[in-house]
Amino acid sequence: MSGVVVVGSINADLGVRVARHPKPGETLLGAGGGITPGGKGANQALAASLQGADVTMIGAVGSDPYAAPATTLLRESGVNLDAVDITGETTGLAVIAVADDGENTIIFVPGANATVTDEQVRQHADALREAEITLLQGEIPASGFAAATELAGGRVVVNLAPVIDVPRDALLKADPIMANEHEAGLILEQLGVQAATEEPRELATALLEAGFTSVVLTLGAHGALVATPEKIMDIPTPKVQAVDTTGAGDAFAGAFVARLLAGDDMVAAARHAARVGAFTTLSAGAQNSYPGLAAVLPEVQG
Ligand code: ADP
Repeated sequence: MSGVVVVGSINADLGVRVARHPKPGETLLGAGGGITPGGKGANQALAASLQGADVTMIGAVGSDPYAAPATTLLRESGVNLDAVDITGETTGLAVIAVADDGENTIIFVPGANATVTDEQVRQHADALREAEITLLQGEIPASGFAAATELAGGRVVVNLAPVIDVPRDALLKADPIMANEHEAGLILEQLGVQAATEEPRELATALLEAGFTSVVLTLGAHGALVATPEKIMDIPTPKVQAVDTTGAGDAFAGAFVARLLAGDDMVAAARHAARVGAFTTLSAGAQNSYPGLAAVLPEVQG
């Protein structure tokens, strides 16, 4: 068994800038129009690969002009894309308009990502059986998610973002379940637990009580938390002047599994992942701000 298989979304992000958002029916001039690669699955696959992991991606794109820019950084970093199917749908597309006041609107077209169903995932069963880690998010259909957890021969790591409804037994295979505070609350709700708290330690404890083997909560500038039934550990993050936190959580997830594969325990892996997450906030964008092994990561002070 070796490496990580990421079963997840692949998108092209089409970014435009406007002075203000148009009203319905209105036409405005804008700027930009560049395409950058995105999708939580692709982001996490790239982050893991750049941090030294052997990565295979299971997913889908369209046979359209968006497929190449959506996968270019994955290809360049050496992610195995043999199990990325080319479908008749469009490549997943996020049309992102950012106004001068910083407020953004996003129109998301799932496109080919919606074809990553039970049937599609089963066609790549061998890769899942042989993977040391299977890494999942919430941007593919629940049936594909469930099939991946069933076929996974190794450890299953889940960052259920966004929080979609998935079968309970599939979700509880996560070791760890990885979430931010908001997602943690929604996951507890999905499991029928009424969590009257936003306090990270209480959320982590509630997730363990709900049946997870381990929990990782990411807490932005407050770092992260690693919880097992034995202990809960605070993970510090470097103090940085954050410019753009887009994709920091995905960088954390990818770097975390890369370090697990390299032999770290969860606490050591999360300490490194927090520094990778902080690094990505120092420049704009998601995938293009992810560090390779040669990058100098910010240090945790004190
Ligand atoms: P998500 O995008 O999923 O909510 P977070 O914002 O918690 O994820 O970011 C993931 C990790 O990136 C954090 O655990 C932290 O280590 C790092 N990080 C994010 N924002 C900052 C920040 N402003 N300063 C320092 N580290 C950060």
